[in-house]
Amino acid sequence: MHGLLSVSGLKKVYEGSGRRVEAVRDLTFTVDAGELVCLVGPSGCGKTTLLKCMAGLLTPTSGEVLLEGRPVSGPPPGMAVVFQEYGRSLFPWMRVGENVELPLKQKQLSRQRRRALVADALESVGLGDAAGAYPWQLSGGMQQRVAIARALAYEPDVLLMDEPFAAVDAQTRADLEDLVRGLWRDRGITILFVTHDIDEAVYLGERVLILSASPTVVQEQLKVDLPSERDQLHTRVDPRFAELRTRVYEQIQAAKRGVVPGA
Ligand code: ADP
Ligand code: MG
Repeated sequence: MHGLLSVSGLKKVYEGSGRRVEAVRDLTFTVDAGELVCLVGPSGCGKTTLLKCMAGLLTPTSGEVLLEGRPVSGPPPGMAVVFQEYGRSLFPWMRVGENVELPLKQKQLSRQRRRALVADALESVGLGDAAGAYPWQLSGGMQQRVAIARALAYEPDVLLMDEPFAAVDAQTRADLEDLVRGLWRDRGITILFVTHDIDEAVYLGERVLILSASPTVVQEQLKVDLPSERDQLHTRVDPRFAELRTRVYEQIQAAKRGVVPGA
């Protein structure tokens, strides 16, 4: 099976100034069109490295990433990325609307079409009124919404998200999680969501890929057979949710002890 996105035998070793860090050892997995897949693994296991390789921002040491069967060698036109550090991903001297519009300027679109996409994206993340504000006038959660809006306005087929809610408070995080599931349902975007948070991975994902600690391999893949309508109140107390999170937790522990899956 090929999938929309396919990562095969991906390895990344950082080398320089006498140091050698094997960030990712050997990763193989696929993501199908329209899927929402969560990738969970401990800090430092190479999640950001993997995402940068998938987004064409880093060249793998070996292995490859295919998007619709074609090797990714630079940032692919149909892909958008939301990074963890919203504080550094928005330009403070540009208003929210201008930040969201910026990547659209690479596309051959009329000014009117760009404006419509920006307004629609800001509306989708609940920031219809914020176009004229500067990022530093907004809370952390709102800034991360702006970063999501910027990705949406670009109309990506594939959205990669790297621990996007790690730095916001719990209530905001819950709201943003629901926002992501809603956007996924409404827009049919393929989403790969990276997190170190087991509960978040199970709550959001239709499938969870569990990474081992570095040197990193895929420890297990788990289908999340929870109903597709999820909400913060009921889903998290569903006995099946508890079973799934226990399963993910056990696999992460096994990965730490170096237990090879299936062995
Ligand atoms: P995660 O996102 O899962 O926390 P990272 O991909 O950021 O993990 O990092 C994986 C490993 O690679 C870590 O040991 C980290 O220190 C190392 N690393 C990340 N970026 C670089 C770099 N540019 N140069 C050298 N080592 C790096
Ligand atoms: Mg990271």
